[in-house]
Amino acid sequence: MSEQRTILHLDLNAFFASVEQQANPELQGKPIAVVGGGGRTVITTSSYEARAKGVKTGMAIWEGKRACPELIIVIGDNRKYTYTSSRIMQMMQDYTPDVEVFSIDEAWLDLTHSLSIFGTAERIAHLLKARILQSFGLKCSIGIAPNKLLAKLASDMKKPEGFTTILPEDVSRIM
Ligand SMILES: [Mg+2]
Repeated sequence: MSEQRTILHLDLNAFFASVEQQANPELQGKPIAVVGGGGRTVITTSSYEARAKGVKTGMAIWEGKRACPELIIVIGDNRKYTYTSSRIMQMMQDYTPDVEVFSIDEAWLDLTHSLSIFGTAERIAHLLKARILQSFGLKCSIGIAPNKLLAKLASDMKKPEGFTTILPEDVSRIM
């Protein structure tokens, strides 16, 4: 008999843009777009304020400005993102030793053996959300499911600040 697994996928919302808004209060609540250094002109991430005006990842700066004339361009600082990411990933280790980093702003946590300590996956999700918000000022979307693929799908369902659970009995319907 195979064991029922509980996987949590966490996705930091608009990560680069949110880190910049936290680092500089003047950027908070404003439409900003992060572009790579070295004269690159493509938008890598934008804040939700910018997205609301039609700014999208992959747009050139001029396209972003056409969609949103008040768009503020911020040159990305990878060291800042890597540092913040590694601290958040480290925090995840408080809930399970089984953390699989997928990218700078996404990871899976296998909670299968953590539930006897923390109770429910929902409780761990709420703790993580609260701690990430309190310590870093960042929001995230979380999905919980019996496997990695569905957990990622679940975290994608609601952004920003989503929380979605796919139960084992729903799996066949969704697949
Ligand atoms: Mg993200």
